Amino acid sequence: MAAIARRKSIVAEVGGVKVGGTHPIVVQSMTNTDTADVTGTVNQVMALAQAGSELVRVTVNTEEAAAAVPKIVAALQMFGVEVPIVGDFHYNGHLLLKKYPECARALAKYRINPGNVNIGKKHDDNFRTMIECAIEYDKPVRIGVNWGSLDQALLTRMMDENSALSEPLDANEVTRNAIVASALLSAEAAVSYGLRPDQIILSAKVSKVQDLIAVYRDLAARCEYPLHVGLTEAGMGSKGIVATTAALAVLLQEGIGDTIRASLTPMPNGDRTEEVIVCQQVLQSLGLRSFTPQVTACPGCGRTTSTFFQEMADQIQRYLKEQMPVWKESHAGVEEMTVAVMGCVVNGPGESKHSNIGISLPGTFEEPVAPVYVDGRLTRTLRGERIVEEFIAILNDYVTARYGRREAAVS
Ligand code: SF4
Repeated sequence: MAAIARRKSIVAEVGGVKVGGTHPIVVQSMTNTDTADVTGTVNQVMALAQAGSELVRVTVNTEEAAAAVPKIVAALQMFGVEVPIVGDFHYNGHLLLKKYPECARALAKYRINPGNVNIGKKHDDNFRTMIECAIEYDKPVRIGVNWGSLDQALLTRMMDENSALSEPLDANEVTRNAIVASALLSAEAAVSYGLRPDQIILSAKVSKVQDLIAVYRDLAARCEYPLHVGLTEAGMGSKGIVATTAALAVLLQEGIGDTIRASLTPMPNGDRTEEVIVCQQVLQSLGLRSFTPQVTACPGCGRTTSTFFQEMADQIQRYLKEQMPVWKESHAGVEEMTVAVMGCVVNGPGESKHSNIGISLPGTFEEPVAPVYVDGRLTRTLRGERIVEEFIAILNDYVTARYGRREAAVS
């Protein structure tokens, strides 16, 4: 697979995680618990970290939330969860960071929305206070501009300037330009207050795919700060996943994006970790990172006689997922393994040969046997009731033989 050339950028460090340059694109997520609820937030952060989130953001919107942050970080450390915690600040961030220094110290990064720190005050006062806290505690910041909360004074000025042109741009384009300008001007201001450029990550999120692509292309061309990329308010279900994937795929393919998030709306009581899995799957599908062995399965058609083949593909996929927490510690490289589970011999052997290990189940009118290919060679033919168990045994032997066993560190 041809390597994707990453855009040149500065490298920032967030609680030990490097963001930018040629470092792996970082997967992040955000909790939806009340941050003041320490137990609930710790549990959700642990679930997100367990799913593979490498940074987790929590909202810090009240005094109770700010007071809870050091407790959350301490509890996570007690449980051995090292994921850096990012604080999301809006209108009162300047007050909370000043009043709760333990919160300011415990967080690995501050997310500042320049459009939401000037309420009733001069722009610089609140923003500057937050930047000064980042300087004092040596923390990176993400300057996160958002379409829904764009600096209105800047937007109005740019709209006025545009309408004075002989050939004005349309309002959508001016808004996109204002989003990029807001991010760059805010970064410039932060540097003028003394923040190092390597303490800055930028984001400029919008909710429409084409707007997002245009905004990030512009931003990427005009600065070398690492970029956090994500489609904001992506939505629910397949709409949210597909829209996020469409936007991320185009930008990542162009080398744009150093850290990503999928802003999915979960179903009520749904699984928050889905946003992590989506990010991982986007990165793995593009060949940018590997997280878990991939199962290639055909869609099935009139040649598949029962649901057995779908059930088997599902069982194998779940088995691989369950093994990964152990395998990633003991079998380096297993996350790059590919497994084919195919419904019949039309495409089955071909796909199996292109995978590390593959099986083709018998289709309609085919002999009731399932050929297994390992590293492109036909090695076994399974039949009978125990095909799944026997295939998993072959899979386990392959993992042990191919990816070895990483010895435990000797102290
Ligand atoms: S591999 Fe066979 S069962 Fe699967 S979609 Fe193709 S023809 Fe149908």
